[in-house]
Amino acid sequence: MPELTELSLKEMQTGLRTGRFSSRELVSAALERTAQVESSLHAFLHLAAEFALQQADQADEQRAAGDGRQTPLAGIPIAIKDVLTVEGLPATAGSKILEGFSPPYTATAVKKLQKAGAIVFGKTNTDEFAMGSSTENSAYGVTHNPWDLSRVPGGSSGGSAAAVAACLVPAALGTDTGGSVRQPASFCGVTGLKPTYGRVSRYGLIAFGSSLDCVGACGRSAEDVAVIFEIMAGRDPLDATSADIEVPALSVAQSKDGLRGVKIGVPREYFIEGMQAEVQEKTRAAIAQLQALGAEIREISLPHTEYALPVYYIIAPAEASANLARFDGVRYGPRAEADSLWEVFFKTRGGKFGAEVTRRIMLGTYALSAGYYDAFYGQAQKVRTLITRDFEAAFGQVDLIACPATPTTAFKIGAHTGDPLSMYLEDVFTLPASLAGVPGISFPVGFDGKGLPVGMQLLAPHFREDALFRATHAYQQATDWHKSHPKGFES
Ligand code: GLN
Repeated sequence: MPELTELSLKEMQTGLRTGRFSSRELVSAALERTAQVESSLHAFLHLAAEFALQQADQADEQRAAGDGRQTPLAGIPIAIKDVLTVEGLPATAGSKILEGFSPPYTATAVKKLQKAGAIVFGKTNTDEFAMGSSTENSAYGVTHNPWDLSRVPGGSSGGSAAAVAACLVPAALGTDTGGSVRQPASFCGVTGLKPTYGRVSRYGLIAFGSSLDCVGACGRSAEDVAVIFEIMAGRDPLDATSADIEVPALSVAQSKDGLRGVKIGVPREYFIEGMQAEVQEKTRAAIAQLQALGAEIREISLPHTEYALPVYYIIAPAEASANLARFDGVRYGPRAEADSLWEVFFKTRGGKFGAEVTRRIMLGTYALSAGYYDAFYGQAQKVRTLITRDFEAAFGQVDLIACPATPTTAFKIGAHTGDPLSMYLEDVFTLPASLAGVPGISFPVGFDGKGLPVGMQLLAPHFREDALFRATHAYQQATDWHKSHPKGFES
């Protein structure tokens, strides 16, 4: 039998239900494994060990008492990216400006999981305010990729992806504004979902780019991620942008029909010069596998793809500059000593925000300033519409889009830190779907010559996460890439 911590979420559900092990045993095993590897990985900013054990005991008692409540996640440990609030636990967003902040409320997505019985295991590392692609922008140090400790796990949800890949938890919540679930999932060899914009409540998510931010999840298979998604999705009166659209029961996504009749488009703009050849090869091979499973493959075009990067890097910083205005040393976190209110603002913000966050605030403020607003933000919004229309046109012809998730596999720690633009280029394949608000999933499709996971991406029309799960599940039924775990990184 594999180690308890290597079980899938589905297997944990079964094991707990049939009494093969208790939640205390499961959580203790997860804590033990975390203690073994965390000094090499640094996946967590806060480990809620005692809280998790207490919740485990409660779950065990409820089960023993024959409590028949609908709690599909009862007794299962889940990690939460540290940009989502959980009452009673710290929430830093990877920033010194929120050091010591204890939020008085829990994010809706987390609350829904807790209501379903999930155990909050800890808060995972992230780039500061989720701005980055490597976790190197975390004010609390980088997370290491369990496949190669000298490499980044991707970001910004790098702690969540690393924790899942290293089998510390079966699933973790992340957030995806421009790729922050899909890219780290791809670098760490796990399955990661960015839902449709508005599908999951943003209440309790520390805002970055409000028109782009999505709460997503990663796990070791599409099947496991679907369980989490189904629970956390849906309308929330506390988030006016959350959609009142029914969440289909995802048992449908398990249908046995394979991919017969599913039309999958492959956009030519996503196979570009400069990307790692092995990423291209493995993605093409996976597309061939999808075809073998019954899908009909067509070449398509998303002609405005090349504008996604500049458009995103105007819109996201613009929204970030507005959202981050609230961190002024008065309302949250630490406050610099000063003689006047203005000086409190200057010193707190100047001293506590890291370099990337400061850069984004400056870029965003510039793009929104009088006289430049139309030229930058206004123009970017118009081009965003063209990108969205590309997807609408494509989804008139095909059901899904298949493309690489990232141009390279996990890069070395430090490889891009001196050159922000080269870091931004890492997001080239994830940004278009974020701008269009369509859902995307990334999942492992092989390894490169260095033994690093390669991920690919499927995209679907708005609110068709079920189609993403169905296709990925069919692929994972036919292949074993998602079952490989990194070994030998334990210190
Ligand atoms: N890497 C992108 C950025 O730095 C996306 C981050 C995200 O999705 N949170 O903005």
